[in-house]
Amino acid sequence: MKGLKNGMSSVSRRNITQRLVVFASHLPSSSSSSSDSTSMASEKQAALATAPSDADAPTIFDKIINKEIPSNVVYEDDKVFAFRDINPQAPTHILIIPKVKDGLTGLSKAEERHFEILGCLLYTAKLIAKQEGLDDGFRVVINDGPKGCQSVYHIHVHLLGGRQMNWPPG
Ligand code: AMP
Repeated sequence: MKGLKNGMSSVSRRNITQRLVVFASHLPSSSSSSSDSTSMASEKQAALATAPSDADAPTIFDKIINKEIPSNVVYEDDKVFAFRDINPQAPTHILIIPKVKDGLTGLSKAEERHFEILGCLLYTAKLIAKQEGLDDGFRVVINDGPKGCQSVYHIHVHLLGGRQMNWPPG
C-alpha cells in the first residue's frame, strides 16, 4: 500500500520520532555547555542579589512601560505590555507584564482582586504565541522570589519558544 513500509506509515513513524524527542528532552541532561551554565549562574546571582522590593517601589519595567528606556515591544493594550527579553533564553523570549502593578511584585503577592489581570497575562501569552508562530508549543514561566530566581519585582510572565524545551527546568 502506498505510504506504508513494514506495516508502518511515514506519518506514524514521524509521530513516534517526535514523541521520542520530547521524551528525551525530559531526561536529566548530563552535558550542558559552559556558556549555558555561565548564563544560568549569572541569572541566579542577579536573582539572589535582588532584594524583594516593597509593593510600590518602581522597577526597570515601569521605565519600559513609560518608554523612558527602549524595548522591543511585541504587544500592548490598555492593561498589558509585552516586550522581548534583553537576555533571551530561547529564540523567542518575551516578557508579559501588567501596566499597573497594583502590589503584584510577584505571584506570591496575588490577591483576589488580581484574578482578572492574572487571566489577562496568561491569555495574552497565548495570543502572542500565536502571533510569533509558536504552533508546535511553547513554555510560560513565572519566577517568584529569590529561590524562584526572580530578579525584577513587577510580576511578569516569560513566554519562551522556538526550540525544544527540557524538563526538569533547573
Ligand atoms: P526574572 O529573573 O524572572 O525576574 O526576569 C526578569 C527578566 O527581565 C530577565 O529575563 C531579564 O533578562 C529581563 N530584563 C531585565 N532588564 C530588561 C530590559 N531592559 N529589557 C528587556 N528585558 C529585561
